[in-house]
Amino acid sequence: MSSNPYIWLEKSLTSIHRANWYRSVKTIDGFSGSTVLLEGKEVINFASNDYLGLAGDERLIQAAIAATKEYGTGSTGSRLLSGHRELHRQLEKAIAELKQTEDALVFSSGYLANLGTISALVGQKDLILGDQYNHSSLKNGAKLSGATIIDYSHNNIPDLASKLHQHRSQYRRGLIITDSVFSMDGDLCPLPELLSLAEEFNCMLLVDEAHATGVMGKTGAGCVEYFGCTGRELIQIGTLSKALGSLGGYVAGSASLIDFLRNRAATWIYTTGLSPADTAAALKAIEITKTEPQRREKLWRNVNYLQQELSGLNLLPSQSPIICINLFSPATALSTAKQLEKEGIFAPAIRPPTVPTSRLRISVMATHQPEHLQKLVAVSRVLSRK
Ligand SMILES: *Cc1c(COP(=O)(O)O)cnc(C)c1O
Repeated sequence: MSSNPYIWLEKSLTSIHRANWYRSVKTIDGFSGSTVLLEGKEVINFASNDYLGLAGDERLIQAAIAATKEYGTGSTGSRLLSGHRELHRQLEKAIAELKQTEDALVFSSGYLANLGTISALVGQKDLILGDQYNHSSLKNGAKLSGATIIDYSHNNIPDLASKLHQHRSQYRRGLIITDSVFSMDGDLCPLPELLSLAEEFNCMLLVDEAHATGVMGKTGAGCVEYFGCTGRELIQIGTLSKALGSLGGYVAGSASLIDFLRNRAATWIYTTGLSPADTAAALKAIEITKTEPQRREKLWRNVNYLQQELSGLNLLPSQSPIICINLFSPATALSTAKQLEKEGIFAPAIRPPTVPTSRLRISVMATHQPEHLQKLVAVSRVLSRK
């Protein structure tokens, strides 16, 4: 048998194209702010996770430069060997202070934080219950753990309760995992109800605050603060790469949780420590999040304005700066995004398999100016009439 073992790649790509699922990268030049140069053309940026506009902030840039000059570009090893710096500890203390938890641990990305934490906390004798719309990193962390995984329907507390009733007693540990702000929908998990169920069924609860940190709650601590659940025992994951404008992930929780993860989370133990530049930039961002609440206030004024002005369109329910317009098919989503781009607006089409139904995803920034928002509203109204 003489055949090419790689020939299936071409065939697979052809099917991806045929389904309108094909993706490719787009080049952005210069700074990514409320406007960007997208493939050479200036457009208004509704595609960024930089909610507070910190990724281009001069103070973060200077902090990154200073840390690079002091410590060099790389941290040169894993944290347990040669990769630990005082800067990492300062960042972990700042995260714990923001979240009001006993301690925190910084990972090289939010994705790795989820993989490492979930697979350290549960194993083959255990049960994971996860929201069906959870982020890829939560789903893959669950798979990696080897635990039994049962999905419950999106934000559906009765469904979760009935699955816990039916299955919980057959397993050793139980872990409920959920996004707090759902990344491709913009709605929030029902955190107080999840905490009650976790207590009732003796389960740990892990919430992914990736899109909530810096954005939700009075001090920007996230949905845990927004729902008045600060101080309750749970496991909070997050990223330094969205509202905090840097790169990296974290876990925040009890001192024993963090101590355990330092000994058992493979994606923390066997990977190189976060670079000095990323660490210093994130530390500065947390400081700004605290001292400049007006950024968060501006963000929410922008969100509320758009929610009101776009309310005539087919929007998904959202309580966050992520606003999604439902679209009929992957092809419509693609053509709408292309139309918007022609009009000078950058808002990506999100399609299966990332989400079950196609949509246009708009993410709002504190640094969007009134004319940016007005243009989006005007263009969306024209497009929706077609
Ligand atoms: C973006 C995101 C992550 C991954 O964070 P990175 O730091 O970019 O790896 C994890 N979970 C959710 C819900 C996210 O939106």
